[in-house]
Amino acid sequence: MSKVGFLGLGVMGYPMARHLARRGHSVTVYNRTSAKAKKWVEDNGGNAAETPAEASRDQDIVFCCVGNDDDLRQVTIGESGAFHGMRKGAIFVDHTTASAEVACELFAAADANGVGFIDAPVSGGQAGAENGTLTVMCGGDQQTFNAVSGVIPAYARSVRLIGSAGSGQLAKMVNQICIAGLVQGLSEGVHFAQKAGLDVEAVLEVISKGAAGSWQMENRGKTMSEGRFDFGFAVDWMRKDLSMCLTESRRNGASLPVTSLVDQFYADVQKAGGGRWDTSSLITRLR
Ligand code: NAP
Repeated sequence: MSKVGFLGLGVMGYPMARHLARRGHSVTVYNRTSAKAKKWVEDNGGNAAETPAEASRDQDIVFCCVGNDDDLRQVTIGESGAFHGMRKGAIFVDHTTASAEVACELFAAADANGVGFIDAPVSGGQAGAENGTLTVMCGGDQQTFNAVSGVIPAYARSVRLIGSAGSGQLAKMVNQICIAGLVQGLSEGVHFAQKAGLDVEAVLEVISKGAAGSWQMENRGKTMSEGRFDFGFAVDWMRKDLSMCLTESRRNGASLPVTSLVDQFYADVQKAGGGRWDTSSLITRLR
């Protein structure tokens, strides 16, 4: 069993840290809003720390799941950041969906302190975190990856090293590019079924067994047809992710016409007040 720190107890981090505690690891948590960290300790045992540096001191592994690049810099290299507290030989595993650039920057900063760094964004949503069935795509050194790949399955069913630092974040961008166009297609399908006066649930039930089936259809089709979006993966986060995909595509020359269009559709959802709605709220633009 390892001594671990966990920074960021949001929708994803809270249940991920809980799975680590249930596996018997000794967990110290940090959350910016300290009431959440206190609640986590009441629910799960372990300790709460006041700063990321304190939560990271003398740990074997420090996990992190915060919002974006700036948040990540703040909790690692910022004042009282984790890198000021970690011992040589320890490993920082970042589950934030962030840019490949910040992953490379923090890999180098960690390395200079004798600390390992793995960028390890996740897919599978809130339910995947709650049920411990996330997919984790990693970037970094093989040796560092080997040291954490036995611990991550506490909350994941699939963990894979894709390549050097930043590769995990690039793989997550592929994931988001695939989802963007798909959710628009699913929105149009559900919208069409409603306009045609069909029993939407029956249609989705049958076509999800065929070539049109997808995770989004299985997990979001019903709630889309009911107009429920107050859960899941926030539109604000999706726009952050798509913005990183589009920036990266300008660097590597990839052509992303549909991703770029859907990003603008999500901007409409934000303007309509849906920043915290689940990404399946794309369908609201069609009504
Ligand atoms: P969330 O519920 O908004 O939680 C964000 C967490 O980060 C909170 O604990 C927040 O603290 C903390 N945080 C934000 N900025 C910070 C800062 N500057 N300093 C310290 N702590 C800070 O978000 P989430 O849904 O868990 O998502 C977290 C990450 O996972 C994001 O990068 C997201 O894109 C990614 N992700 C999410 C999902 C999903 O379905 N939700 C799926 C895959 C990937 P406070 O409590 O104080 O606000």
